[in-house]
Amino acid sequence: MKKLLGVLLLMLFAAGLAWAAPQLAAPPAQVSTAPVSHFNVAAATNAYMAELSPAQRARSDAYFEGGYWLILWDLLVALGVAWLLLGTRLSARMRDLAERMTRLRWLQTAIYAIQYIVLTSLLTLPWNLYEGFFREHQYGLSNLSLGGWLGEQAKALLLGLILGTLALVIIYAVIRKATRSWWLWGAGVALLFVVFVATIAPVYIAPLFNTYKSLPESPLKQQILSMARANGIPATDVYWFDASRQSKRISANVSGMFGTTRISLNDNLLHRSTPEEIKAVLGHEMGHYVLNHVYKGVVFFGIIIVLGFAFVRWGFGWAERRWGERWQLRGVGDVAGLPLIAVLFSIFMFFMTPVTNTITRSMETEADAFGLNAARQPDGFAQAAVQLSEYRKMHPGPIEEFVFFDHPSGWQRIHRAMVWKAEHLDDADVRRGDAIAPPGAR
Ligand SMILES: [Zn+2]
Repeated sequence: MKKLLGVLLLMLFAAGLAWAAPQLAAPPAQVSTAPVSHFNVAAATNAYMAELSPAQRARSDAYFEGGYWLILWDLLVALGVAWLLLGTRLSARMRDLAERMTRLRWLQTAIYAIQYIVLTSLLTLPWNLYEGFFREHQYGLSNLSLGGWLGEQAKALLLGLILGTLALVIIYAVIRKATRSWWLWGAGVALLFVVFVATIAPVYIAPLFNTYKSLPESPLKQQILSMARANGIPATDVYWFDASRQSKRISANVSGMFGTTRISLNDNLLHRSTPEEIKAVLGHEMGHYVLNHVYKGVVFFGIIIVLGFAFVRWGFGWAERRWGERWQLRGVGDVAGLPLIAVLFSIFMFFMTPVTNTITRSMETEADAFGLNAARQPDGFAQAAVQLSEYRKMHPGPIEEFVFFDHPSGWQRIHRAMVWKAEHLDDADVRRGDAIAPPGAR
């Protein structure tokens, strides 16, 4: 059998050679090979990496690696808050208060939810102040004054009160109705809620924090829209928003679902980057759109949410058997158990960090490949990757990248862009864009 297969393969190989022979014999096509040999992917990648001084690299590494520890500290803060609410029976008293105020079950849930959201926001405020304000200023990434930052927090709290209370009332109603399979129903409702928020976010939530405008007419805008049309994106407009209100980070995004999807770039990208970089970044964002990453994300994160609820079901039973009486909990349908559910979900997500990062990083890698093909700006793409070093480590080890990176590292992105460039040096447009010389020689 194996021998037969070998003979078959040999015959196929011979047939392939016979087919290829006349082509090999034909005169070479109009491909000039001379300058291509000049291009060295490794050297071009290194030239981009060398744009950052050792001090800049050290700063970028310190900021990003500090973020690894923040994941752990965030979990410890969540554990502390849950212990405080449950261990002191504050959570049980908040439920008792809600029960004294009304006999309507859903309203009791709402009253508890409001107390819980306000209290946890206040308890975590000092930590969030460090993480979101002082640390960002320390690395020169924030443009917000303390007053501005607190104002944003207040807005987020108000939004959390409205959406969080609504979500908790619905989820608890479903959990109580479904009894045995509550975790599956709970996961389903939670996922529907995520989809709901993602749908309304670009239209109703994002404008609360930033002003979105149609990008002013320019040749660049026409080139962006042309790229959109060429890739079957029904966009008739590109949006830009004043992210410089909050930070110095360059960024763009594609957000929304079911017709609310829109492609936006921020003003930092617009003001700090060349047209080539902007086109490269927008090509990437269009990749998310064309490759349906929003919908794939819902499927992937739907699975994560179901697994999370399964973990919560197990963990809740385990903790309730040990401390349920001391904490005065009356089962999973009792809203006083919310701090336990929340902290179990935090523990689950902590251990899922490499999984969730790998899901998003894989989609980002796909969008990178799409963007290189769509925008055909390998140097613009590499330059944008250098700019992102302000808040993302450039050259991590492979395990580090697997665990902590939700986007490919800067080095990966530059290297892939240079590989793409090396394979397209014979294309007229790539040549025109000073393709041969590495950036240092430009
Ligand atoms: Zn992306």
